[in-house]
Amino acid sequence: MTAAKQTSETRVPFFRSIQAKYALTYLLVVAVILIVMNTYPLLMAENMVFSSKENTLKRQALVIGSALAVSETLTREGVEQTMALLEEVQGTRVLVTNADGQVLYDSSDEDNRLGGYALMGEVVAALRGQDVSRSEYRDGAIRCWAAAPAMYNGQTLGAVYIYEYDREQAQVLLSIQSNLRYISLVICAAAAVLVLLLSKALTRNTGRLLSAIRRVREGEYSHRVESLGRDEMAQLADEFNQLTDRLQTTEEARRRFVSDASHELKTPLASIRLLTDSILQNESVDMGTVREFVADIGEEADRLTRISEHLLALTRLDAGAERKPEPVELGAVTEKVVHLLTPLAQAGEVELKCRIEPACTLLATEDDIYQVAFNLMENAIKYNLPGGRVDVTVRRLGGKVSLIVCDTGVGVPREDMPKIFDRFYRVDKARSRAAGGTGLGLSIARDTARLHGGDIKVGPNPAGRGTRFEAEFPVLKEGDRR
Ligand code: ADP
Repeated sequence: MTAAKQTSETRVPFFRSIQAKYALTYLLVVAVILIVMNTYPLLMAENMVFSSKENTLKRQALVIGSALAVSETLTREGVEQTMALLEEVQGTRVLVTNADGQVLYDSSDEDNRLGGYALMGEVVAALRGQDVSRSEYRDGAIRCWAAAPAMYNGQTLGAVYIYEYDREQAQVLLSIQSNLRYISLVICAAAAVLVLLLSKALTRNTGRLLSAIRRVREGEYSHRVESLGRDEMAQLADEFNQLTDRLQTTEEARRRFVSDASHELKTPLASIRLLTDSILQNESVDMGTVREFVADIGEEADRLTRISEHLLALTRLDAGAERKPEPVELGAVTEKVVHLLTPLAQAGEVELKCRIEPACTLLATEDDIYQVAFNLMENAIKYNLPGGRVDVTVRRLGGKVSLIVCDTGVGVPREDMPKIFDRFYRVDKARSRAAGGTGLGLSIARDTARLHGGDIKVGPNPAGRGTRFEAEFPVLKEGDRR
């Protein structure tokens, strides 16, 4: 096993797997939700409690302040009398100071500050004429402070300071908090299980696709992935299946081509072997027979040359070798081929006629167009009958230029027409062999035409017996010339 193979087949560690990434993402989302759930409602509830308490305390301070402000000065007795009339509030401590901050009244028994100075921030602010409040939650209790001035005729006589210590409401807040924690824990556990199951389900298809890719890579080209639903993974699987279809077709074509090519090469080689053996093993062979056999060996060698030339041409076409297209006059190239093939036509007693329209220019290489024209016309002569005809037409119609080759030869059966462009396909093997064919000419011609935006079509000769081939290309317009 190669190093590359080993690497690609190693199991991805869990922490680097897509499943772990999915799981982590889900868990992060759940964690964020839980954090928000555990803080926001609590903060809201706390703020509500604080502001309601502060408002109540401030209102009380103001009420006491206005109840006290009945004369120009505050006295300890006066304050005590007024305070005695007011209802005492549970859990609160009330302090009243004069304008200097000296305590005139303190409702607390434990830490009574009567006579002392109360210099708390709230008192100082109240003596400046402001009503203030503040709250905090500490050690399982809510503490709240408020202060308001006692005003008489626009003059500050003193300050009323109220402090409240509340454990009950703090307990309510605490129980909300612990309930939320309990719920969060349950959600966390459920989310962890769900995340594991979900991420596994989501990555199951990735695993299936991965194993399919590996099987195809190992050479199992017929393997396909089953339908994986309707999401992007399913599309990926479909694309993979289509890719594998193409790979399988290409691979089969390649194998067929290699086996056909070796068979085609073996046949002339076997003939050469046979002919040489016949000469070597027969001592009494006369010179005339030897010459005949050697001529046959020469023919087989020619066939081998043709096959290898055609194979080379196909390989170059498959490799997509760089070509430099230039304007080519189809008529001029056709005339050259007609001129070259006239002796062959005469030898086969075939009449070769040609009609060429002017201005049939296309963009290609002259060699390629020559190759196409030569293959079509040579076939039309090769597969003709003595006394037959080949009509070659070069015309321009719409945006196309065409080379039409009609013959009155042996024809191609309809069912064979789509196959004659396949590599090594011959309708009549013996006739093709006798005519020196390789079964590659049309395949080369069509691939070459397609390389220049053209194509070759085949059909029966509309004039009667024989076949009609039409190679068409996009015309080169004036504007296309640079
Ligand atoms: P080959 O080298 O055998 O001629 P081609 O690829 O040129 O190979 O042609 C493939 C087959 O198509 C030929 O073997 C022949 O059977 C058939 N064919 C091609 N052109 C003609 C034609 N003009 N008339 C009849 N049969 C044809």
